[in-house]
Amino acid sequence: MSVKMSYKIIETDIVVVGSEAAGARAAFEAQDQGIDVLVITKSKMAKSAVTLMAVATCTAPFNEKDSPEILLKDTIKGGSYINDQKLAKIFSEEACQAVLDYDKYGTNFVKKQDKYVQFQMPGHTYPRGCLTEPIGTTGRKMVRALHHEANKRKIKILEDTLVFSILINNGRAVGVLAIDLQKTEVLVIKAKATILATGGGMRVYEKNCAAREATGDGLAMAYRVGVNLRDMEFVQFFPTVMISPKNLFGQQGPARLRYELNAQLINFYGERFMYRYDPLRGDKSTRDVVARGIYTEVKEGRGTEYGGVYMDVSYLPDKVINTFIDRHYPRFNFGGVDLLKEGIDIRKEPFEVTPAVHFFMGGIVINEKTTTNIEGLYACGEVAGGVHGANRLGGSALPEMGVFGKRAGKFAAEYVKDLKDTIEINIKQVNKEIERIERLFERPEGPNVYDILKKLQHVMWQGAFVIRSAQSLNSVLSEIECLRQEYQNVALKSKSKNFNLELKTALELELMFDVTEMIVRAALLRTESRGSHYREDYPEKNDQKWLQNIIISRKAEGMQLNKQPVEFTIFKPEEVNDEYKNKKRKN
Ligand SMILES: Cc1cc2nc3c(=O)[nH]c(=O)nc-3n(C[C@H](O)[C@H](O)[C@H](O)COP(=O)(O)OP(=O)(O)OC[C@H]3O[C@@H](n4cnc5c(N)ncnc54)[C@H](O)[C@@H]3O)c2cc1C
Repeated sequence: MSVKMSYKIIETDIVVVGSEAAGARAAFEAQDQGIDVLVITKSKMAKSAVTLMAVATCTAPFNEKDSPEILLKDTIKGGSYINDQKLAKIFSEEACQAVLDYDKYGTNFVKKQDKYVQFQMPGHTYPRGCLTEPIGTTGRKMVRALHHEANKRKIKILEDTLVFSILINNGRAVGVLAIDLQKTEVLVIKAKATILATGGGMRVYEKNCAAREATGDGLAMAYRVGVNLRDMEFVQFFPTVMISPKNLFGQQGPARLRYELNAQLINFYGERFMYRYDPLRGDKSTRDVVARGIYTEVKEGRGTEYGGVYMDVSYLPDKVINTFIDRHYPRFNFGGVDLLKEGIDIRKEPFEVTPAVHFFMGGIVINEKTTTNIEGLYACGEVAGGVHGANRLGGSALPEMGVFGKRAGKFAAEYVKDLKDTIEINIKQVNKEIERIERLFERPEGPNVYDILKKLQHVMWQGAFVIRSAQSLNSVLSEIECLRQEYQNVALKSKSKNFNLELKTALELELMFDVTEMIVRAALLRTESRGSHYREDYPEKNDQKWLQNIIISRKAEGMQLNKQPVEFTIFKPEEVNDEYKNKKRKN
């Protein structure tokens, strides 16, 4: 069966791909500069993607004793010294303004006597976490406010529209190719500047706590047109998200009980296994050690029914639990998750938890103006890398989206204003990309998209998750290659042109192969353990060899990885951490 698809051309000054914290902020700023903006999201604004899920806080150094410099030092220390210090400095200096802007749009952060109430988060020298009420609603309130502002400003938004390729002509980005998922209609979006705000790629892993949209499309689309990416080996894991019941998978709220109410972690055999991994701190160990402990228990056959471990406070008297809950989580409500309503009574029984992928530290290489190495292409938010280095401090993503979203809008608008020549679309590229979709419809039969996706997510969980080794990573790499081959013959079971979710998944999956390959190749190259990246065959941090970033680019011969020494443009490690100072003195 031959399928021919036509396309519709839409013109705009700036196209922003992504409608949440980073994308919305970019669009507002560009509009403020009098530039025509079009926002695209593959779902519905404020009802999908990751910003909505943010349950904790939004960092800013408002405290009198605090300063951007102290936040910068904390960020560099937390990032294990491989951050892009220029970006981290901008982040630290502009975080307060990002919070003020979010608040101006109506987020309504909690204040007491005109000052923001701020929570202490691990790794931060001072309390910096602004939040909304009830606790756990920060992301939800933020996206509602951004959506409201977008409506007020009459920002043009194309929802349910999946961007699947960046258009390039004469080495310059000239827009994107998208598909209107409602009608399966191809849209050629011709734009003088393109801003990617597509978020992270957590869904390439079987166990993740991110929204369905986090498939890393922007990372792969950028890679495919020659954009440089960095630090892709650094994927952050949240150690204890809920696994069951299914509708609560990924919820982090009750995980707080581990450090707030001495919750115990117990394996299938009732053992308090964490003392095997951290004899001193046990259940109270750091996130990375807990994640590795749970992962090992499950892998070695001591996991629970749904492939996790138990978290338990039921050993405590009801009175203790009730008093704690009344004070902190009235009616057992953990940021929108009502445990009692879900049939979980933590006074009587433990619940199941697992580590899950939470955030991508790595991403597109940008400069202070959010420019990539391709003219006319900008990136901001979680899709960009550099601010957080090898690990991100809690609450530091939301302000980053505000800071760099705003910058992307500003600098892309300036670029558009200064642009002298006209832009043209390369029709050959358009036709080639459309043929990919036609082939998916034409093929009468072949492997199933969802089966391949599941296998890919599973192998990533097995070999490139919280514990990695050369052996596990090499095995994942060859699995990715096999699955990529299998994908070449994939056929859509549904030929419907009306919101064909299988088509959407097929287009995302094709991009996920590149995302997974970047993570695995970078993790293989980094022969040390640093931040969120743990190699059991190289369990130590190696500063002699690895104060470096891994830069990934696409060359004719395939994926290329280059080591690039970290530029200590602002602080050297010994200037942010006493441990290094002492080491230097001893030497
Ligand atoms: C469970 C959870 C809790 C968190 N809690 C916190 C917290 O308390 N504090 C904090 O600072 N950070 C937190 N984070 C991290 C933070 O929420 C995210 O890093 C941040 O919201 C990402 O914003 P973004 O705008 O870059 O991406 P997203 O919010 O993920 O938005 C991406 C946008 O891109 C669109 N998109 C993607 N691909 C395409 C495509 N191909 N075509 C068209 N559109 C596309 C999506 O539809 C969406 O509109 C949390 C993360 C998780 C998973």
